Amino acid sequence: MRFSEYLVPTLREVPAEAEIVSHQLLLRAGFIRKAASGVYTYLPLAFRVLARIKAIVREEMDRAGGQEIGLPIIQPAELWLESGRWNVYGPELFRLKDRHGRDFCLGPTHEEIITELVKGDLRSYKQLPLLIYQIQNKYRDERRPRFGLMRGREFIMKDLYSFDRDEAGLDASYRKMYDAYTRIFERCGLEFRPVEADSGPIGGSVSHEFMVLADSGEGTVVYCPDAGCGYAANIEKAIGRPALSGADEELAPREEVVTPGLKTVDQVTAFLGVGAERLVKTLLYEAPDGVVAALVRGDREVNEIKLQNLIGVDQLEMADAEIVRRVTRAPVGFTGPVGLDVETIVADEEVMVMVNCITGANKADTHYRNVNPGRDFKPDLTADIRVVDDGQVCARCGAVLQSRRGIEVGQVFKLGIKYSKSLHLTYLDEQGEERLVVMGCYGIGVSRTMAAAVEQNYDADGIIWPVSIAPVKVVVVPVNMKEQTQVELAERVYRDLWAAGIDAMLDDRAERPGVKFKDADLVGYPVRVTVGKKAVDGEVEVLRRRTREMQVVPVVGPEWGTPYPSARTFLTASTSSFTGTTCISRVRRRSTSTSPSTAFLPTVTRTG
Ligand code: ATP
Ligand code: MG
Repeated sequence: MRFSEYLVPTLREVPAEAEIVSHQLLLRAGFIRKAASGVYTYLPLAFRVLARIKAIVREEMDRAGGQEIGLPIIQPAELWLESGRWNVYGPELFRLKDRHGRDFCLGPTHEEIITELVKGDLRSYKQLPLLIYQIQNKYRDERRPRFGLMRGREFIMKDLYSFDRDEAGLDASYRKMYDAYTRIFERCGLEFRPVEADSGPIGGSVSHEFMVLADSGEGTVVYCPDAGCGYAANIEKAIGRPALSGADEELAPREEVVTPGLKTVDQVTAFLGVGAERLVKTLLYEAPDGVVAALVRGDREVNEIKLQNLIGVDQLEMADAEIVRRVTRAPVGFTGPVGLDVETIVADEEVMVMVNCITGANKADTHYRNVNPGRDFKPDLTADIRVVDDGQVCARCGAVLQSRRGIEVGQVFKLGIKYSKSLHLTYLDEQGEERLVVMGCYGIGVSRTMAAAVEQNYDADGIIWPVSIAPVKVVVVPVNMKEQTQVELAERVYRDLWAAGIDAMLDDRAERPGVKFKDADLVGYPVRVTVGKKAVDGEVEVLRRRTREMQVVPVVGPEWGTPYPSARTFLTASTSSFTGTTCISRVRRRSTSTSPSTAFLPTVTRTG
């Protein structure tokens, strides 16, 4: 690979449309180009990174017993109608018609088609378990495609589906995948956390997401800092220990207070001189069956996912001002549970222990003081419907929870019989009885993982690829292309590296060294070999991109005779890391007396 012949269109400027680091750097370093909103072309370097991630994924899937297949991207609507998802998926599904007017979609995920496939061939329990996967493009017409590869409309996913006889079989398959995912992200050199997650429209009961920790992440990981406890969940799912004691007061009679123009929690509580935890916040939602009121303490937020799951709906919209006025006969900002006439009132469990609290009075410019749940209003349902974030208390061990932003790179689901039931996927057990297959599904965003790796591995100069997924491990830079010695030695190092199984790029452009170094930093090769003035002595400089550690290494003997085995050892060790975090900690300088084969032997240690 010679830079002069390779398609690496690096840019000096930060592209205006790119908001987050990975998007900016992947564009600037010549990895990707946009074709349409959320649709990207992978240039050669990106293609190589993706190939490495895919190779790791494949190895781990195969190790866990997975079998790779290729499912069609174009899928007939009938299957999606049968599973009920043709309508649930809504505008996110790319739909198309063939010349006969038949409906199809571009696969956003493949549960339907794979269930149908297995149905065609599965007869007996003897054929189970089955773990089948593919690595392929997925299509989702996302409402807000953004952040480059993070949220594309066309993206690469690995999806595996497990088919088992029973729940115990599913547990075993799930465990295998969970462990395989852990290995995959470790091998990709990423800092990540598996967290409990909501299963969303895919359905099923148990689910975990694998979150790469990064400030640009769209998700939030809530976790317990107590290592022995280890609780970690996506914020959509996180639970905490509820504050189950109210103020220590006698119940007082409820009274109206005039709160002119005061609509927010802060305004009202400041005016009344109490803390936000003394107010009950009432939020109105439009659900398919009518209006739902959700009550949480003034210092909490409603977790809409928990609320949706509780009342069994796929979607909730905040009620607009018109609905608020119709239901409460008051403007927005004065809604309260007392005398409220809606389909369902749901109270968070913390609300029910509150004493003498403040609520809206369903009357303009008016609130109530001394409202007491149970006495003044009775919710239809009481449950955990609040957002649990850092600062709240761990439900398991009582420590104070913390949170970090994260990028979801993978998710695993126990689907159970959701799809086998709707699509009639059964097998015959030992007694010859027909039973439903128990399924799981397991996705990894391969293209998103590439972007997530950049979010965790960069500095002011560019990308710093973890060795295991770097597009090219070493860049060889002759400083002066007019110096024959440098050019020849660079060629030689370059050929030696390939011969030793280390892929390398030769930056053979007649550019100033500064330009070449800048590009090398930007592209993010883990190791740069600079062939400069010391070439006459057979020496090169080896620079590690991450640490900026630099060593002078003899590449050939003083007479340019036999290659120095130690140099090869050095480079092999610098570039053959399993996880991307292996690093050379110390290389002894050349001593004049020792033989070439024992000098410079690197010590390899794991860091971070
Ligand atoms: P998100 O919540 O981010 O929309 P999801 O939960 O809908 O993702 P899954 O159906 O679980 O995604 O898909 C499996 C994996 O595919 C995700 O963990 C993620 O890594 C990746 N993925 C999902 N949507 C996108 C997208 N629009 N662009 C890139 N990768 C994606
Ligand atoms: Mg997901």
